[in-house]
Amino acid sequence: MEFHGVGIGRGLAVGPVLRMPEPLPEPADQPSSLSADAEQERITDALAATAVTIRLRGEKAGGTAKEVLDAQALMAEDPTLADDIAAKIQSGKTAERAAFEAFAGFRDMLLGMGGYLGERANDLDDVSQRVVAELTGVAVPGVPDPDYPFVLIARDLAPADTALLDLDKIIALVTSDGGPTSHTAILAREKSIVAIVGATDATQVADGSTVIVDATAGLVIVDPTEEQLAGVRTELEARSAEVPVPIGPGALADGTPIPLLANLGSATGAADAVALGAEGVGLFRTEFLFLDATIAPTVAEQQEHYTALLSAFPGKKVVVRALDAGADKPLAFLNTAHEENPALGLRGLRALRANEQILRDQLTALANADAATDAELWVMAPMVATVEETRYFAAIAREAGIRTAGVMVEVPSSALLADRILAEADFASIGTNDLTQYTLAADRMLGSVAALQDPWHPAVLRLVGEVGRAGVALGKPVGICGEAAADPLLAVVLVGLGATSLSMSAAAIAGVREELARFTMAQAVEFAGIALAATGANEARAAVLATISKSEQSNQPEHQPSQKVE
Ligand code: PEP
Ligand code: MG
Repeated sequence: MEFHGVGIGRGLAVGPVLRMPEPLPEPADQPSSLSADAEQERITDALAATAVTIRLRGEKAGGTAKEVLDAQALMAEDPTLADDIAAKIQSGKTAERAAFEAFAGFRDMLLGMGGYLGERANDLDDVSQRVVAELTGVAVPGVPDPDYPFVLIARDLAPADTALLDLDKIIALVTSDGGPTSHTAILAREKSIVAIVGATDATQVADGSTVIVDATAGLVIVDPTEEQLAGVRTELEARSAEVPVPIGPGALADGTPIPLLANLGSATGAADAVALGAEGVGLFRTEFLFLDATIAPTVAEQQEHYTALLSAFPGKKVVVRALDAGADKPLAFLNTAHEENPALGLRGLRALRANEQILRDQLTALANADAATDAELWVMAPMVATVEETRYFAAIAREAGIRTAGVMVEVPSSALLADRILAEADFASIGTNDLTQYTLAADRMLGSVAALQDPWHPAVLRLVGEVGRAGVALGKPVGICGEAAADPLLAVVLVGLGATSLSMSAAAIAGVREELARFTMAQAVEFAGIALAATGANEARAAVLATISKSEQSNQPEHQPSQKVE
């Protein structure tokens, strides 16, 4: 049996499957046979025990995992939740049912808020399951922890699960839900886990089956033949023998420089990014600094963050994006109106324009930080759909003292009119996550349409090509800052379409640097042409891979296969 999903990176792995256990069944809604006091005692003990267990897991894991788990422990100790459970017990429910209903109520409330708060709903589900498991004395669902390495198959992972993955044991990760820009995919990329997401058939694989996980092809082979296994072993040996390309500036094989920049959400990631060879920052997502804020941050508060960021990159380019609120990243102080389709609503620059003082304050804080540091600050607007919006942003940015003002191309309309957009802006940066979502009309948060969320799609590539062409014609830089830039082979194609820099999670830089060094600009342009001519995303990827392997067979040295093992 074989099935496909969306491969993250180019890793290859083989090993035995362990599936993430299915969630516990919903506790029956029948009257308790115990007294309310007895049920109350049970739940009080279970909540306390759950909080202790979660905290201990956090202590063991350390780092970010500890933060995630401490937050979960607090959920188990939340007094409002405890009151809600107590009231349900008083009305005759069992402790299990009362806990289940109270947690579900909170979860629905968070989901209703959408975006990042909505994503935390998963964490509440996780705590709820733990409490019910504690009450019923069954094993707690979660990532299996055997004493041997395994391929983890799951529907999707909650942030708490991903933070806790034991990277020495997880050979590969295959999920049936989630797209290439989902939380799980981004984490897999950051941690260099061999991964395939959105593989809907994954849940049919039995525990203990051997699987080959080939992220380059987005392919999972179940119970492979001896011949297939031997082929994988040979390939893995060849890859591990490869000497990694030393850290240095990104460039094609013919020496064309392609700066490799980091995507950051806070200044704390700056040192790691520099250590991994980031030549600057291609996307600083400022909204991450203010997700929990209920009132707009002051100029002084913002200036402090931006100064810390810019100070980490003396003499280097740092591209900061103005607040990108709305849709998956709601900011309470920017847009609270209920929208039926928030991805098509008052988001990005539209929301800033409706709150112009917030935009002005942010630009002022950025200009002040720029004046106080030696980095080369560029500022761009998110979700720009029209030439008029571009003109508006460039004018207001310059008025605030920003020297280089650009726009993100995330909406097909701005890609199609890139020549006119770039006439007004100093640069463009293509957000392939949203550009793919809007081109294919496929919600990037939705697992059921994950297969459509593939930036290899020729429709997306054609739009990228429009922007690249306009950039060349006008002599303006065109960066890529969506997750597509982190896919090594696609990165080469994007350069062939006219991208002049690539920005990605810092952990992905090494793989992209290595791949760029294998090909010349002429080859990148050739691959771009081949991908553009394909009928779909899988066909585009396959056609470029086929061209490369054909060249390898004719023994051209620059086409030696990459041997990196992720
Ligand atoms: C994008 O849409 O590609 C992008 C980089 O922005 P974000 O992922 O923050 O929406
Ligand atoms: Mg975006």
